[in-house]
Amino acid sequence: QAKESGRGRWSFFSPEMNRKLMERRALEADLRKALSEGQFRLAYQPQLDLKTKRVTGAEALLRWQRPGYGNVSPDSFIGLAEEVGLIAQIGNWALQEACRQAVTWPGHLRVAVNVSAVQFRLPGLYESVAAALATSGLHPGRLELEITEGVLLSDTVETLVMLERLRSLGVKIAMDDFGTGYSSLGYLQKFRFDKIKIDRSFVRHLGENIDAEAIVRAVVGMSRTLGIRSNAEGVESQEQADLLASEGCMEVQGYLFGKPMTADDFAEFLKVGGSG
Ligand code: C2E
Ligand code: MG
Ligand code: MG
Ligand code: MG
Repeated sequence: QAKESGRGRWSFFSPEMNRKLMERRALEADLRKALSEGQFRLAYQPQLDLKTKRVTGAEALLRWQRPGYGNVSPDSFIGLAEEVGLIAQIGNWALQEACRQAVTWPGHLRVAVNVSAVQFRLPGLYESVAAALATSGLHPGRLELEITEGVLLSDTVETLVMLERLRSLGVKIAMDDFGTGYSSLGYLQKFRFDKIKIDRSFVRHLGENIDAEAIVRAVVGMSRTLGIRSNAEGVESQEQADLLASEGCMEVQGYLFGKPMTADDFAEFLKVGGSG
């Protein structure tokens, strides 16, 4: 609460706070229009089997072409979309679009779609996933849902029931950003994830930080023992890839192999890579 340089006039917001609030309002107003104006795209980042180097699929990553701002990263609007009640619609669009694209790829390739923690708890996710599969005709086993540890924060029966319901559709469930949230080790006992994605923050320090290597080794080893596929995110160097291979990590994703790209570029990537 700041006192303004006038007599007795009180303002709750400093000019700086006021500016931020205006920016946020503008962002929210633009976000509300983005879907109907067709400003969202999905970028696809290849995922590869580390041993064979063959493409196993792609992660669909949301991009917003905000007029006057260019491409906006999801990190700067997913949170807002959750707060203002837009995440279900946006998430539903991403599911529909990803399935629609993936059905055009060779049949052994999967598409991974991110599901935010708020989206997970809202009613309608199950129906949304089922509808995306039905509309596109994509085989359910080719769709993978990436959820973060945030979903498991509310360690409730409902969470577990929802995970099982989604799985009953035949889709795969991956745990994203593993190791960055609150400990979800307990959850690995209750729900059998199909994949664990080791967060980029660990992969980044491979080769320079002995602790990062120990953590990656532990996660890969644990995944193997539990029969869960391991994926390392954000692989940027050959050295990182080699270390991951020596630890037995199964799948990789990162700039070294391919950046997130348009659907057309991904189709081209598949042809050139000969993994079709
Ligand atoms: P994420 O799911 O963990 O996605 C991985 C992020 O790492 C992506 O950032 C990707 O572009 C980036 N990345 C991949 N490889 C590398 C690398 O080698 N180096 C570096 N520096 N970065 C790499 P992006 O696309 O900005 O997405 C950020 C986050 O936004 C995602 O993290 C995900 O949590 C969220 N997100 C993206 N699309 C969606 C969506 O459709 N729905 C929801 N709910 N969240 C989404
Ligand atoms: Mg992800
Ligand atoms: Mg991740
Ligand atoms: Mg992330």
